[in-house]
Amino acid sequence: MVPKPPPREGQLGFIYSPPYRVQGISVAGEQTSVHVPELDLAFDVGLCPRPVLTASTIALSHAHMDHSGGVPYYFSQRAFQKLGTGRIVCHPDLAVPLRQMMASWVELERQRTPHEITALAPGESLQLRQNLLLRAIDVSHTGPSLGFAAVETRSKLLPEFHDLPQDRLRELRLGGTAITHAVEIPVVAYTGDTEMGPFLFRDEFTKAPIVITECTFFEPDHRDRARVGKHLHVEDLRTLLEVWTARDVIVVHVSRRTTLSFARERLREVCGDASERVHFLMDHRVNRVRYERQLAESDASANVKSEGATTEPSTEEVDVDANAAQESS
Ligand SMILES: [Zn+2]
Ligand SMILES: [Zn+2]
Repeated sequence: MVPKPPPREGQLGFIYSPPYRVQGISVAGEQTSVHVPELDLAFDVGLCPRPVLTASTIALSHAHMDHSGGVPYYFSQRAFQKLGTGRIVCHPDLAVPLRQMMASWVELERQRTPHEITALAPGESLQLRQNLLLRAIDVSHTGPSLGFAAVETRSKLLPEFHDLPQDRLRELRLGGTAITHAVEIPVVAYTGDTEMGPFLFRDEFTKAPIVITECTFFEPDHRDRARVGKHLHVEDLRTLLEVWTARDVIVVHVSRRTTLSFARERLREVCGDASERVHFLMDHRVNRVRYERQLAESDASANVKSEGATTEPSTEEVDVDANAAQESS
């Protein structure tokens, strides 16, 4: 008898939350890596799915193997494919051991792999590009751990100058008056592995339009397991969804034991209508239907525009603008 071929697996989860793509793989204890191409950033690198190689920075939440196992491979493949030196941003307590690990690879491979390991303490920010910061946020897991937020910085006109004409504003600016102030707009927040805590109520989480959150446990009697492993339980999500204003909350780090249909059902039961804003990264079927709808809506609005019937922005664009205006106030 001819044996069966091995199972096909490794398909990347994919959610389009305009203007960002959120893609990757995340299964609790196995591997987590979530890539946002528009930010040139990935969160964690448990294994290294191919597209994640293109991210020039990886924000490493903590060093459990399912989040960090792909670190040396990421550095090595970046070099091999001539993509430039990769950068890992991590908790300061992890920087030395990670450098030691890379030093061990020199002995193992008899060659040196270019790498950059940047320590970022909780509360500190790193400039990713102009007007975009990566901020490390203290969270609570079973070792040194961070959450992260990508934060846009914009300068806004101070309210007392709102009614002045442009030439007067220019005059003031040239005269040395500070007419603007810096405003921070979180765009994507990532919890990493964590238990519940006040840090999840910071602006970076409550105001980000996209929050990528772990939720490892869904069974009613698994609260204790969540507490021991310092993970989130679906009942924590109920509280968090009351304060997170995100239009899309993306759940990662669901354990393989939990079927997605059960997780969806429990989410609905525990979080009610708020669950409509929640997506599971690895729910391929549901996410594909949503994406196909987005494609159809985009085609329909392109057709309407090409007929010259309207110049109205899509509802998604309106949402983004409304959010930005709200956050800057
Ligand atoms: Zn984990
Ligand atoms: Zn962990």
